[in-house]
Amino acid sequence: MIRGRYAPTPSGELHVGNARTALLAWLQVRSAGGAFIMRLEDIDKPRSRPELARQALADLRWLGIDWDEGPDAGGPFGPYVQSGRQALYDAAIERLSAKGLLYPCYCSRAELAAVASAPHGLSAEGPAYPGTCRHLNEGERRERAQRKTPSLRFAMPDRTIAFHDLAAGPQSFQPGENGDFVVRRADGIISYQLAVVVDDAAMKITDVLRGHDLMDSTPRQLALYEALGQRPPRFAHIPLLLGSDGKRLAKRHGALSIRAMRENGIGSETVIGAMAAMSGLLDRIEPVTARELASCFSLELIPKQPVVVDDGWLRKLRSL
Ligand code: GLU
Repeated sequence: MIRGRYAPTPSGELHVGNARTALLAWLQVRSAGGAFIMRLEDIDKPRSRPELARQALADLRWLGIDWDEGPDAGGPFGPYVQSGRQALYDAAIERLSAKGLLYPCYCSRAELAAVASAPHGLSAEGPAYPGTCRHLNEGERRERAQRKTPSLRFAMPDRTIAFHDLAAGPQSFQPGENGDFVVRRADGIISYQLAVVVDDAAMKITDVLRGHDLMDSTPRQLALYEALGQRPPRFAHIPLLLGSDGKRLAKRHGALSIRAMRENGIGSETVIGAMAAMSGLLDRIEPVTARELASCFSLELIPKQPVVVDDGWLRKLRSL
């Protein structure tokens, strides 16, 4: 049985951009008769707000998206909230450390920002880390440790990482393209990359569907699965919804939050219809339930290119 998930970070309201990712992940699972898991990624406490988490879950339910395991539903692999899973992340850090795959990094933000203007590939994580602290000797580490608490970085393997993406097709990343990445920040907070792998593995997730902006994270996560001796899930990275400026659709583009649409009297079936039309599942916006879409869903229907949600779209949505 396939197991998929939606893993929102409760730092902002749900809008058509992120709710559409939830819908498509749900459709992938439900159309295959699988289990859907909800997990709150609130590991970065200062950015996370409990009332936004509650709101996101209520919005998703209103849209007709349900889950078999989650913060409010329980399940065999809980807790389904990252802030309750610290012991699992610590254990993973121990294992990676015992294998010699982690090293302390003393680089300051300013040093890393200077790297940003160098001609390295830019990724969702920022520019690839050039490996400055990877080969420090013990003396150099001791000396730097007196001045700064280090972050911990994972040493990426020196080989090409390739995989088949169910939505985007074959992918290949050259050695060095992604750089060594942080698994634990200097302030002790576990990074998204590590937490997501530990959780998806522990929750036996077979299929990860998420936005194309996270494609760069996948080679890093595949390297972590291998280092932790875990089998990776299948990945499907779907083209993003973009604002008319070409950037990922966000609130600043006037994208209405699900809450606002609900309060404006727009029906949940119309919102689902709009998200389906933006994803190649319907020819035009018409009311439909998530369940109805599940009976005819296929990843192949999703366009390969990002969809620009321009003012015309937003006007249409507002006038519904
Ligand atoms: N919490 C992440 C986000 O909201 C989830 C990313 C993922 O699906 O792996 O972007």
